[in-house]
Amino acid sequence: MKGDGPPASVTLQGVGAAPGMAFGPAFLVDRGSVRTPRYHLPPEKVDGEIERLRAAVRLSDEQLGAVRQRVERDLSAPAVPLGGTREHARIIDAYQGMLRDAFFLGEIESLVRTERLNAEWAVRRVLRRVKGSMAEGDEYFRERRGDLDFLGDRIVRNLLGQTVETFAVPPAGCVLVARDLSPADAMMMLVPGRVIGLVTDLGGRTGHTALVARAREIPTVVGAGDATRRIGRGDVVALDGVRGTVVIRPSAPELADVEAGRDRFLSHEREMLATRDFPATTRDGVRLRLLGNIEFPEEAPSLWEHGAEGIGLYRTEFLYLDRHEQPTEDDHFEVYRKLLEAAAPRPVTIRTFDLGADKVPGGPRRKEANPAMGLRAIRFTLRAPALFRAQLRALLRASKFGQLRLMLPMVSGLTELREARAHLEFARAELGREGIAAAERIPLGIMVELPAAAAIADRLARECDFFSIGTNDLVQYTLAADRGNPLVSYLYRPLHLGILRMIQFTVNAAHDAGIPVSMCGEMAGDPFYAAVLVGLGLDELSMSASSIPAVKKVVRALDAAEARQIVAEAMGFGTAEEIERFVRERMRGRFGELVEER
Ligand code: PEP
Ligand code: MG
Repeated sequence: MKGDGPPASVTLQGVGAAPGMAFGPAFLVDRGSVRTPRYHLPPEKVDGEIERLRAAVRLSDEQLGAVRQRVERDLSAPAVPLGGTREHARIIDAYQGMLRDAFFLGEIESLVRTERLNAEWAVRRVLRRVKGSMAEGDEYFRERRGDLDFLGDRIVRNLLGQTVETFAVPPAGCVLVARDLSPADAMMMLVPGRVIGLVTDLGGRTGHTALVARAREIPTVVGAGDATRRIGRGDVVALDGVRGTVVIRPSAPELADVEAGRDRFLSHEREMLATRDFPATTRDGVRLRLLGNIEFPEEAPSLWEHGAEGIGLYRTEFLYLDRHEQPTEDDHFEVYRKLLEAAAPRPVTIRTFDLGADKVPGGPRRKEANPAMGLRAIRFTLRAPALFRAQLRALLRASKFGQLRLMLPMVSGLTELREARAHLEFARAELGREGIAAAERIPLGIMVELPAAAAIADRLARECDFFSIGTNDLVQYTLAADRGNPLVSYLYRPLHLGILRMIQFTVNAAHDAGIPVSMCGEMAGDPFYAAVLVGLGLDELSMSASSIPAVKKVVRALDAAEARQIVAEAMGFGTAEEIERFVRERMRGRFGELVEER
């Protein structure tokens, strides 16, 4: 074999982060491998070193300012397809904020002075410490740590006098390959049509880059290990953004496979999108509403393209997690107003922030042994009235601009609901005194995601305007199985009888009280569960954009009466395995290709 022909193909397994298949020549973005020299300085060099550090930081700041300007320019050019851009401009602001932060710089300078470390080393040390303090937060924070590497690389490269590629323009039709993409890179480089696929060594499904890729519909595999080391510039790379596979230098038959898969995917998408404007109505006339989940307002256009009838969940904690400073009331207001205006007359369900003790940048950091059961979401919110008030005032001010629905996360009982409502009314009265009017009626709803809330759904339903069942947490708390822990993932089963009973009780309680009930956990976006959810009587299902067409297809092909029958029979079984097997058999016969992987 040696020396004969091209090297054999290699397959890497990563995490599918944006659906679709793509193949094309690789374009490597080389940012990850800057080497940091480490040495001690003689005392007389310290002052000069600090000057060198300050110059590099200033230069980094100027470079980011230039990027920021390009972003602004692109924003005013409507032809540029954007996703996440405004949000990303803010991220650059956050980087710049850090570069200008006296405390951050003071720490680096003090390492240079006291330990006489060279500037590159001191920068890495301080950033490592900051990262360490983020390590125990949840996934969002772990992924935000990549941003600090980005900042560190930039300063170190400037210290070393290396040119920092501002932003290389990727050639048309390429697969972008990078160790990780900072939000700034993602925003500038992921141009649909130009970049047809993305592979990164690091990152996870909920990382910022993955969100941007999904919003821009660029098939993506993240967490692909050492892709950047194995892929050479110009190598053909084929990727599957659903299965998470990356084939480097595919053989002719492998390429033909991917090509066929891509054609199937695209024609399937086309077929699915053809139903965009059809209602999600069962054959016997039960009308469901399919809505979208978003983390960034810029994801909304993709929802409309996929036929969402509104937004069922906007996770506002992302407003806090991407920046250095707390968002002000006006920051909140601007985001909500634009979103509501753009969506109108569709409803927009905005969830108040689901943050925890260690999840507020710059805020108090308490260590909790068990953060998932700790001071987070509404509990944290009620303990941080100033933050809550700023968000509520912004929501009320924005409510005039569209159809706002306000939703509270992790409510465990009536007390939290009542307290939150009192804050809302207080904010409304306060605004009234300032002469600012809010919409007269703003539906106030709660996430039903704690078993306690499900168990008293009848009481809660009397005091709120809608429910949204959050199965991601409901399953986790009911089965006491951490949603991110692979050791207990075998227990994490939405079709456990205990979960079905809770959903059933919640839906019935809502309907008895005359309020609608939605579901916005991942279960809602999986076509496999669609018949069960129709049978249980959900009024709305909220999911990511790309899930909508498939779920709609199942809903439109079903009879609600048949779905109720499936639920009745399924709930006759005792174990999750039996229920799953039964549902699988019933679904496979009818919707083969939609549920084939189960
Ligand atoms: C849920 O718990 O199902 C949910 C939608 O909320 P999150 O995933 O943001 O916790
Ligand atoms: Mg939740």
